[in-house]
Amino acid sequence: VVSQLNRAGFEAYIVGGGVRDLILGEEPKDFDVTTNATPNQICKVVKNCQRRIIGRRFKIVHCVFGHRESQIIIEVATFRNNEESAAGRSSGDAGMLTRDNSYGDSIEEDSKRRDYSINALYYSPKNRIIYDFHGGYYDILKGTIDMIGDPVVRIHEDPARIIRAYRFAAKLGFKISERTMKGFEGNFSLIKNINSSRLFEEVNKFFLSGYGYRSFKVLKESNILKLFLTEQGVVFDSDYFNGFIGESLKRSDLRHRQGKPNMPAFLYAVLLWPLVNSMLNRLRTAPGFIHSSEKSIIDLIGAKVIASQLAITNFPNMVQDIIMEIWRLQADLDNGMDGVDNVEHVIANKFFRAGVDFMRLRAFMDDSLTDACESWEEEYEFQSARALMFRKAKSRGKSGGSDDADVERTIEELEILNSRRAKERARASEREQSLKKELKKSGRKARGQEKTKTKSRKKRSGKEKIKGGSRRGDESLNLTEWM
Ligand code: ATP
Ligand code: MG
Repeated sequence: VVSQLNRAGFEAYIVGGGVRDLILGEEPKDFDVTTNATPNQICKVVKNCQRRIIGRRFKIVHCVFGHRESQIIIEVATFRNNEESAAGRSSGDAGMLTRDNSYGDSIEEDSKRRDYSINALYYSPKNRIIYDFHGGYYDILKGTIDMIGDPVVRIHEDPARIIRAYRFAAKLGFKISERTMKGFEGNFSLIKNINSSRLFEEVNKFFLSGYGYRSFKVLKESNILKLFLTEQGVVFDSDYFNGFIGESLKRSDLRHRQGKPNMPAFLYAVLLWPLVNSMLNRLRTAPGFIHSSEKSIIDLIGAKVIASQLAITNFPNMVQDIIMEIWRLQADLDNGMDGVDNVEHVIANKFFRAGVDFMRLRAFMDDSLTDACESWEEEYEFQSARALMFRKAKSRGKSGGSDDADVERTIEELEILNSRRAKERARASEREQSLKKELKKSGRKARGQEKTKTKSRKKRSGKEKIKGGSRRGDESLNLTEWM
C-alpha cells in the first residue's frame, strides 16, 4: 500500500501500533497507514485489494487483502490536524470528538492528534526512517505510556484515551507516566461519557486479544473494572469473582494463542456470572420462587442483569441471546446426562459446546460439578466424531470413493454405536434411581421425627448444584433493587 502511494507521488507511512510492536519485537495485530492522499486518491492508487471508504466524521479507506479468516485489513487515513483541541473543541454525546475532520499538511501535524507518544511513530519503508516527534522511541525503551499534549485536555476531548492507556499498560506491561496519571486523577468519571457501543468494543479489546488475564489484573488493581460492569455488590471482591473470571481469561488467552476464536457473548456470560449466580442462590429459596423452575429464575435474573449491563456496554441483540442461552443451558447440564429428559435436544443446542465450556469453568470453582461436566464433554466428543465420520462417509460416497452400500454400512455402524450408548445411559440411570431410593429409605430411618424445617429446600435439592458466588456472605447485595 505504502509503495503504491509513494510511486504515485504521495507521502505514505506506517504508523501507530504496528511500528510500536515491531520495535518491541512483537507481532503487530494490524498495520495503519497515513498519507497525504485523500480517500478518493487512495482508492484510485491502491490497486491489488478491495477498497472501502468508511467513517462518518473522518473518512478513511480500508484496503482489504485476502478472504475471510485470512483477511488482512490495512487502514489508510489521510493526515489530520488537531487544531480544534487548542480551541477547546466541543465533544459530542459520545464523549468523542465531533469536529475532528480536517486534513493536516504533514506527519508532524498529524502526530499531535494521536494519543500516546508510543503510538505516534511514523515509519517510511522507502527511506527506512522512523520519524518521532514526541520521544515515542525512548518511551518504548523505557516502557512508558505518555500522553501527547496536555493529558487533561486530551481526555476531555476523548475519555476513551484513559481506557486505552490501561489497555497498553496491560498489553505491553508498560507504566503510565506520572504526568499522564496526574491528568487522569479526579477524571475517571469521564469514562461514563463514552458511548456504550464504543465502550463495548474497547472492553472486548482488553479481554479478547490474548492478554485478557493481564488486563483483568491491571483493571482490578486500578479500580477501573468496576466502571465497565454493572453493580456487583460484594460479589465483585469475592474469591469466586476473581477465581472464576481469572480462570476463564487464562483459558481464552490460551485459545487466542492457538488461533481459536473467543466470543464476546461468552466473555460477558463469564463477567456477569458471579452476580447472576449469587442472585440465583438467593432466589432459589426465596418465598415466591420455591416452585419456579431453574430456567425461569435464570430468565428473570438474566434479563435484569443484561439490561443493566447494556446501559454501560451496549452489545447487539444476538450477543444478548447467546449469553442467555449459555446461562439457561447450565440448568440442563447440571442435571447430568441422566437427569435430562432429552439428551439429544440438549446436545442439539447451537451453543452446547459453549455451555459445556462454561460449565467446566464453574466446575473449576465447584468440584461437585466435575463428573456431570466430564460426561457432557465426553458426549460432545462422541457426537462430533460421529458427525465427522458421517460427513467423511458421505463425501466418499459422492466422490465415487465408495458406493452407496458403503455409506449405508457406516451409518448403520454409527446407529448401532449410538443405540448401544443410549442403552448404557438408560442402565446407568436405572442404577442411579435405585441407589437414590435406597438412600431415601435409609435417610428416612435415620432422620426419624426430624422432618420439620426446610421442606422446600429438600424438594429443590436437585437444583442446588449451581453455587459458589455467595459462599462468602453477600448478604449486603440488595436483591430488591433487582427484582
Ligand atoms: P493495537 O495494538 O490495539 O491495534 P494501536 O495503537 O494500533 O493498538 P488502534 O486502535 O489500532 O491502536 O489505533 C491506531 C492508531 O490510531 C494509534 O496507535 C493511535 O496513534 C491512533 N489512535 C487510535 N485511537 C485514538 C484515540 N482515541 N485518540 C488519539 N489517537 C488514537
Ligand atoms: Mg492497531
